Amino acid sequence: MARYKKALSLCNVCPRHCNINRIIGQRGFCQSGELPKVALVSTHLWEEPPISGTKGSGTVFFSHCNLHCAFCQNHKISEEGFGKEISIQRLAEIFLEQQEKGLHNINLVSPTHYIPQVAMAIRIAKNAGLHIPVVYNSNGYESLEGLRLLEGLVDVYLPDFKYWDEALATKYSSAPNYPKIAAKAILEMRRQVPKDLFDENGIMQKGLILRHLVLPSHHRDSCHVLDWVKNNLGDSTYISLLNQYTPMHRAKTIKPLSRKLTTFEYEKVTEYFLNIGLQNGFTQKRSSATSDYTPIFDLKGV
Ligand code: SF4
Repeated sequence: MARYKKALSLCNVCPRHCNINRIIGQRGFCQSGELPKVALVSTHLWEEPPISGTKGSGTVFFSHCNLHCAFCQNHKISEEGFGKEISIQRLAEIFLEQQEKGLHNINLVSPTHYIPQVAMAIRIAKNAGLHIPVVYNSNGYESLEGLRLLEGLVDVYLPDFKYWDEALATKYSSAPNYPKIAAKAILEMRRQVPKDLFDENGIMQKGLILRHLVLPSHHRDSCHVLDWVKNNLGDSTYISLLNQYTPMHRAKTIKPLSRKLTTFEYEKVTEYFLNIGLQNGFTQKRSSATSDYTPIFDLKGV
C-alpha cells in the first residue's frame, strides 16, 4: 500500500484524530477523502512582501478544512467543499506549472488534511525539477506527526496563531485545544526551519512567518499571542498582523464578530507589538477589510 494510503486508512493526520478510513469512503470532521481536492490555482499578489514579492506567489487552494471558523472568508471551499478531486500526479504537475509561470514560490493554502498526499506530490515534483520554495500556509491546527511528514519538503511555514484563549477557540472554531496545539505545531515548524533566509530580492527562501488576524472585541487576546511569540520564539520572529477582518459566514450573526475591527483596536495591537520589543512585523491597511479580497473559486488552473 502506498505510504499516503496507510496514513489515510486510519486518519490521524490532524489533531482531530478521527480514526476513520478515508480510503474506503469514510469521512471525518474535515470531510476530505482519499484524493486531494483543489478549488483554485492562482497567482497571489497580496501576501506578505517576502512571499508575494513582485511576481506573485503560486497559490493552490485546497478544499475542506479541519477547523470550521465562524468567520471563514473561504467557507465556500472550506465548509461547503467546493472543488475538484485530482490525482497526486496532477497535483505535482500543478506545482511545476506554477513554477513555469515564473512565480516566487508554491503556496499551499489550507493543506493540513492532505499532508500525506501533498508530501508525495512535492516529492514527485522535486524529482521532476521543482526548485522554488514551497510555502505551507495553514491555520496552525496541526499534529506533530503530520508536520514531520513534511520535514525537508517545506521551505517556508506560514501558519496562523488564531487564539490564545481556549474559550474563543471553542466558540469560533470548535477546537478547545487550539492554543496548545498551535503553540506546539509552531515550535515544530521553527525546529524544521530554524533560520529565516531571503534571496537578493527579499523573497523568503526558508523560514517562518506567523499570521494573526485581529478580531473585533478581542484585541487583548492578540496581545497574549504576541507575548507567547516573544517568550518562545524571540524578538526577531516575523509576524504578520492582519487587519482584514470582515464579518462573513456565521460571524454575521455572532454579536462580538458581527462588525469590522476598529482602527483603535488594531492600533492597540500594533502598539503592543512595539512596546514588548518585537522587531519584525507586517501590518495591513484598513482598506484590506473588504470581501473584495476573497478569491473567486472557479477551478481555474485545476
Ligand atoms: S485530517 Fe480530517 S479525517 Fe483526518 S483526523 Fe483531521 S479532520 Fe479527521
